[in-house]
Amino acid sequence: MEPRALGAGGPLVPVIGQGTWKMERDDPQAAVEALRRGFELGLTHVDTAEMYGMGHVEEVLARALEGWRDKIFLVSKVLPQNASFAGTVKSCESSLRRLETDRLDCYLLHWHGPHPFGETLRAFEQLQQEGKIRSYGVSNFDVEDLEEAVALAGPGKIACNQVLYHLKERAIEHALLPRCQALGVAVVGYSPFGAGEFPAAGSAGGKVLREIARERGVSPYAVALRFLVREPLTFTIPKAASVSHVEENAAAGALELTGEEVASIDAAFPRGAERPLPLL
Ligand code: NAP
Repeated sequence: MEPRALGAGGPLVPVIGQGTWKMERDDPQAAVEALRRGFELGLTHVDTAEMYGMGHVEEVLARALEGWRDKIFLVSKVLPQNASFAGTVKSCESSLRRLETDRLDCYLLHWHGPHPFGETLRAFEQLQQEGKIRSYGVSNFDVEDLEEAVALAGPGKIACNQVLYHLKERAIEHALLPRCQALGVAVVGYSPFGAGEFPAAGSAGGKVLREIARERGVSPYAVALRFLVREPLTFTIPKAASVSHVEENAAAGALELTGEEVASIDAAFPRGAERPLPLL
């Protein structure tokens, strides 16, 4: 699995990771098996949040992490309503407890909320000094919020911005992605399959994906993932709760799309007009 530096001077992290949203609805044993199969295949960048299943998903993830923790780049998120100075510290400590670990590799503000970012930042800095988090970042920040966050934190401090990015939602490519790249902030694309809205096999775009997939001997899902990490500083975190899905997604790691293939996907899924950052 191809690694890339996550953020300016950041650690090498595989470009394809694993998400965990709504995993509380999956059979826990199957979810743990799927995550662990992903680890074996190099999908060692794992995203979770205190919000997911109200903490239950972090507990399920703890089971998958047994024996693997040191090889995993573990990310969790604080909810905006908890992101005061004291609330952020408390949320982080609760996540660590549920995840049965002593540190997160990256801790994110889930989206911009009622607390001034400077307060959250102060907590991130303290948690980092205490060794409870290795790095920190943001999620769902559009250009203006991101610039403010970088100005407050200082250059090279915001490791990543986790944002909605899939074939049918390419808004970030207009302004946010180039701005993140210029600032050295990694872009972690979430919901790479459109959270259940993957292009239908019979649609025009679906046919383009299927044709490339057939020629390359991979699934259309792997083709989509590869397209979504074609730019420097980009990562993606598909969620899968079955071993077969994880195996299909991991195949994106070894896939290299030709310029022609990228151009045909680009044409099949146009960016559309410039617009504010959409949320899920
Ligand atoms: P997603 O990854 O776009 O799609 C997940 C869906 O795709 C699941 O139903 C999964 O099924 C299915 N799937 C996975 N691999 C497949 C394959 N090879 N073939 C067919 N179906 C496949 O959706 P998401 O969960 O919204 O996004 C991914 C992650 O991003 C989340 O889990 C979360 O960690 C993160 N996220 C962050 C935010 C944020 O605000 N920061 C928001 C949304 C999501 P199974 O589960 O049955 O395998």
